[in-house]
Amino acid sequence: MQGKAHTARVTLYRNKGKIHARSTRGRFNSLRWAMVWLTQLVFYGACWLGWTDDGGATRQALLFDIAHEKFYLFGLVLWPQDALLLAIVLILAATGLFLVTAVAGRLFCGFACPQTVYTSIFMWIEEKVEGDHLARRRLDDAPWSARKLALRSAKHGLWLALAAWTGITFVGYFTPIRELLPAVAGWQLGPWEGFWVVFYGLFMYLQAGFAREAVCQHMCPYSRFQGVMFDPTTRSVAYDTPRGEPRRAKGGAGAGDCVDCGICVQVCPTGIDIRDGLQYQCINCGLCADACDTVMTRIAKPAGLIRFASELELAGKPTSARPRLAVYGGLLAVFVGLGAWTLADRSLLLVDVLRDRGSLAREAADGRIENAYTLKIMNLAEAPRDFRVAVSGIAGAEIVGAARFAGVPGGIRTVQLTVAVPAGEGGAAVRPIAFEIAAEQDAATRVVEKSTFVLP
Ligand code: SF4
Ligand code: SF4
Repeated sequence: MQGKAHTARVTLYRNKGKIHARSTRGRFNSLRWAMVWLTQLVFYGACWLGWTDDGGATRQALLFDIAHEKFYLFGLVLWPQDALLLAIVLILAATGLFLVTAVAGRLFCGFACPQTVYTSIFMWIEEKVEGDHLARRRLDDAPWSARKLALRSAKHGLWLALAAWTGITFVGYFTPIRELLPAVAGWQLGPWEGFWVVFYGLFMYLQAGFAREAVCQHMCPYSRFQGVMFDPTTRSVAYDTPRGEPRRAKGGAGAGDCVDCGICVQVCPTGIDIRDGLQYQCINCGLCADACDTVMTRIAKPAGLIRFASELELAGKPTSARPRLAVYGGLLAVFVGLGAWTLADRSLLLVDVLRDRGSLAREAADGRIENAYTLKIMNLAEAPRDFRVAVSGIAGAEIVGAARFAGVPGGIRTVQLTVAVPAGEGGAAVRPIAFEIAAEQDAATRVVEKSTFVLP
């Protein structure tokens, strides 16, 4: 085709420059910082808690010991066999998120998401080092000087120190933190530990220090699909347009309550104007509501021009029935019940029985027929326990030799067993038998495993 070549620029990324959000005070800001403290006290502190198990040994209370295939959660020890519980916990977390989103929008994003929490901490450090939003903007525009270099070095040094400590803490949930720290100090980290400390630390540094709101806007899948959980009754941060518009000119009377000061935009960590309506970039942090409340108080108007409100509430319509809440709530109840039942029904003893396929059957000196078996006794309790093994299914069947074994606390004991059956118990056949394994210290712990006995 002849003619002028057409070119089009497609903008895939926000190009407004770095956002320097103005700090604000108010109830949502206080709640946000309360959540920062709560989540970070748990994250940085929980790996230091110790726990003494039933066997008297002390270990880290929360430890995901992947190398030994065990998750320690205080007194509960989960094995690979408990994968169903993990699946239920994940389903519960997802259903809980759906329910919270349907009720109050992206509360998780604004108050508990690690990206929000770490970004808040990084921005707090930035403000302490470089000053408020105006000073930071001036510093951005200023040419490089000794002062700028010192401020930037201090900021990045603190960010990197925090990121490194976070990486170490993260790995401290997989390798006992009290063993990890000396290894870090002595540069003796294993390859996986070293990789994850550096990866998690750098990831945090880049995400919270540089990417910030771009993560919420361009990388997080939740921001894209959370809209499907919204309905007209979902409460989220919203601008009361009928009350605010038309905006007042300076000193104007008879107009709406919005004085067009722009402070709600200046405090927004994602740089949007909530007055333009509900936007997927909004993380529901409520900072614009705090800022606007301050303005309303100053001009002697009621607070709440920007507030948590539903579409119906803003339109002055009554709340409608919400079947989706009943569905999410019902699912939550079902999975809580299922998880509790799975936990209560979980046995602390698992046994695998394998018949020795190398020698099917042999005749002993006393004329009895013998079959050999291997038993893998998994003692899921952290205390030492003894197990007694009995066999049934064929008249006169008994175990030759020891039938009592000491279990390994929280481990697997493999034992070889021989079962003897009196001669004359029938012709050549494969007969079903059952092994009963019971813990001597705990009558409720008992397992029956089926197997077969070969008669020649
Ligand atoms: S802070 Fe309130 S008054 Fe100021 S521009 Fe935003 S909505 Fe209008
Ligand atoms: S619009 Fe308001 S609630 Fe939404 S992200 Fe910005 S400050 Fe937070």
